Amino acid sequence: MTSPTAVSAEVRSDAAGPGVAPVRRALGVRMLMGAVVLAAVVLSAIAAVLPLERPDILAQPAFVGIGAAVVSAAFAQFARLRFRLGRGTVSVSWGETALILGFVLAPPGWLPAATLVGAAGAWFLITWLNDQRAVTDIVHLAASLSLGTTGGAAVAYAITGSGAPVGSTRMYAGLIVGSAVYLLITFGLAVATLSLRSDATPRHIAARVLHAKLPMFVGNVLVGISVVYALVSGPWWLLMAPPVVWLLQRTYRYHLRAEEERRVWEAFARATRTLGGSTEAEVADAGLRGALDVFGARRVEIEVSLPPHQRDDEPGAGDDTAGWAGKCQVVVEDGDGGRRYVDEAAYDPMPGAAPGPVITREMVVGRARVGELTVWLAEPTLPAARDELAVSAYADALAGALHDAAAHERLMLLDAKVAHDGVHDQLTGLANRRSLLTDGEAVLQSLHRDRPVAVLLLDLNDFREVNGTLGHRAGDEVLRTVAERLTDLTRDQELVARLGDDEFAVLLPSVATLADSATPLHEVPSPLPQAVRRAREIVDEIGRPVDIGGVRLVVDVAVGVVVEKAGYADLGELIRRASIALDQAKELHVGVAAYDSASDASSTDHLALPAELVDALTADDQLVLMLQPEVDLESGAPTGVEALIRWNHPRRGLLTPDLFVGTVEHGELLAPFTRHVLDLALTAASGWAAAGFDVPVSVNISARSLLDATFPAQVADALRRHRMVPAQLVLEITESMAVSDQGVVDEVLAALRELQVQISVDDFGTGFSSLAFVTRVQVDELKVDRSFVTEMTDSAAAAAVVRGAVELGARLGARVVAEGVETADQRAALLALGCTAAQGYHFSRPLPAEKIVGALRQLADAAPPKIVPLRADEVG
Ligand code: C2E
Ligand code: CA
Ligand code: CA
Repeated sequence: MTSPTAVSAEVRSDAAGPGVAPVRRALGVRMLMGAVVLAAVVLSAIAAVLPLERPDILAQPAFVGIGAAVVSAAFAQFARLRFRLGRGTVSVSWGETALILGFVLAPPGWLPAATLVGAAGAWFLITWLNDQRAVTDIVHLAASLSLGTTGGAAVAYAITGSGAPVGSTRMYAGLIVGSAVYLLITFGLAVATLSLRSDATPRHIAARVLHAKLPMFVGNVLVGISVVYALVSGPWWLLMAPPVVWLLQRTYRYHLRAEEERRVWEAFARATRTLGGSTEAEVADAGLRGALDVFGARRVEIEVSLPPHQRDDEPGAGDDTAGWAGKCQVVVEDGDGGRRYVDEAAYDPMPGAAPGPVITREMVVGRARVGELTVWLAEPTLPAARDELAVSAYADALAGALHDAAAHERLMLLDAKVAHDGVHDQLTGLANRRSLLTDGEAVLQSLHRDRPVAVLLLDLNDFREVNGTLGHRAGDEVLRTVAERLTDLTRDQELVARLGDDEFAVLLPSVATLADSATPLHEVPSPLPQAVRRAREIVDEIGRPVDIGGVRLVVDVAVGVVVEKAGYADLGELIRRASIALDQAKELHVGVAAYDSASDASSTDHLALPAELVDALTADDQLVLMLQPEVDLESGAPTGVEALIRWNHPRRGLLTPDLFVGTVEHGELLAPFTRHVLDLALTAASGWAAAGFDVPVSVNISARSLLDATFPAQVADALRRHRMVPAQLVLEITESMAVSDQGVVDEVLAALRELQVQISVDDFGTGFSSLAFVTRVQVDELKVDRSFVTEMTDSAAAAAVVRGAVELGARLGARVVAEGVETADQRAALLALGCTAAQGYHFSRPLPAEKIVGALRQLADAAPPKIVPLRADEVG
């Protein structure tokens, strides 16, 4: 009886996976298997017909010997031990013992054929009892063993020769060497097959197989030789064989299992080490690979039930797992939104193979359910309890890693959002001011310093009204629409940003590109008109009607345009200039205005004004009065003097009141300013009073002073300090602004009346409430605005206003003074209308204080004798 076996690559889970390499490998496997089978069959046949002779051990008939060889070959396979290698399983069997027994029992040439039959039979039986195995696999397996047997038997025969008696030292030597050759051949074939079918390197496979096989080889050979010895010298010794074989089998199994255990935990440690990843897909991918490796699984599925992260690259994130066969796939489940990652062994199981056990473990971290891990084991080679334990431990590690990855992903998203929000406007998604400044600055620096660039600054008109009447949601919608339209209108490299509430900016880095790029820069047509044209386009486009919540709206926008060479101003400065232009566009109610450096200077001055005014109020030579006589229309004799303020600005020269009075009126300095003017005016008035001119001084009072309840007291105080009678002071009040607190105004006016200062309505006819004003308080004077006087001779309406003022004055008992009389014609026309007093260049321009007395004298002198008493005083 003989039988061969040492190692067989019992690869079951491998066939053709996807990809080019697996296909080529599968082909290699088939060719190798075919060659092995062919060689085994041919060699078995040849060996059987060779005329080989060898002394019989028991003088048994040939068929009994062959039968014994077949049976021992079969038993060697039944008593096989298996271990996992990659995704395949390697069997190690009692082949050497079978070889030795077969060699001494069967006729020499029949051993290969007997092995082929015995091994194949055993495997068919195993398959029938356990699980389905492909016929090709079984045939290949048996053929490899038969080939090994052929080699081993041939070498043993060569050493033993036909003459060496059974039990001779030479024969034992032949058996030992033959067994080694058998081992080498089966081992070589197994390693070749395994390395074609698995990812592990041949070296790694060889080391693993040898480690498992070598002790078994030694035991097998010893058992074989002991049996032969017993057969020869005392068959009773055979009784010792079963316990020894049983013990050895236990030892082998223990050795293999310990090794397997060590390897699994090693793989486990390796796998869990690589589990850490920054994304769920990464972790899932590592988890799948690790599980396939650790458990030698056929299929692994990871179901993740953590809340998903909105990431652009989420679907199919696991598809392109680097370096792997690309089978890992993520299936996004509908319903609860969990994700399922699946991977299978790189090579499909043999068709018809029965699946191994399926182990499912829930993944939990703390109390949070992370998901579920399911492992389809290839084959139950280890006790089920141990596999389950390992899967549980693996599931825990995986759960932790997935949980970490989720936290990490959340953090990354948050980071990205913070970074995005830092440079983007949340509502419109446009760049914000900060990013416009940095990106825009980078653009400016990348351009030739003489290249003209433009900044357009946009501001929606009446946006507050939209918010106020339609609500903030509608307002947001309007802003988004504007942002969209702006983005549509801009071209490559142009930057659009939302700077604030309803303020947008566009940077045009190439306003001159309409010209041929070959044109030298200094010959490029002026870029400003181009920029303005772009701005108009924008105004038109944004002005297209838009439906907001069922309301058709037209968004009106004002644009400030600035053009400058890239190297001459930074972006902040460009925006500043554009905003000055924008202010102008708003002020003039035009859609587009271009930056003009002249108005810029004044606007900068505007900002500096309040501080400078403080200095002016303490310095005594900066604020000065010009004095303009008011005359009797008919005679030309002076009837009063109006004080007009000037600011002798240390840097900007002489400033007229329109350049600073507005600022004064709206600032904190109004009261000290008014006090200052009153002082100057009363000082001047006491001067001409001393010179004998008994005419009052008129001082312009801001309407806002009427809101100051302490104002009458201030006036009284000023009069007292200058020892002037109240009637010498006329307060000219322009009721041009709507007064919010009419009650205070009325009180102040009443108090002023009580003081007995005179009250004059300045710019009469222009203020919408002039008429209302005269009904509230008794006034002493109406000053008809210059515009009516100027137009009076051409416009009947203007003349009607003057006539109306004259009539009103007569009725109220107030004198009527016409302002801005420049010509004799106007004087005559005013006289014809019944007007009695006037003021204007025709009589006298405003004069410095030192010239007023002379001018008054001149006017009085020119007047008819009616004013003689004054002149007499002067002469006398
Ligand atoms: P107003 O009270 O209507 O002053 C008359 C303005 O007309 C003065 O301009 C004066 O120089 C100018 N004017 C006088 N005659 C003629 C003329 O024949 N033709 C022309 N074209 N103009 C003439 P001014 O001095 O620039 O003052 C402008 C305005 O500033 C004044 O208008 C007054 O409302 C305001 N203002 C002047 N001084 C003060 C002041 O001390 N306090 C306040 N609150 N406002 C003042
Ligand atoms: Ca005035
Ligand atoms: Ca006036």
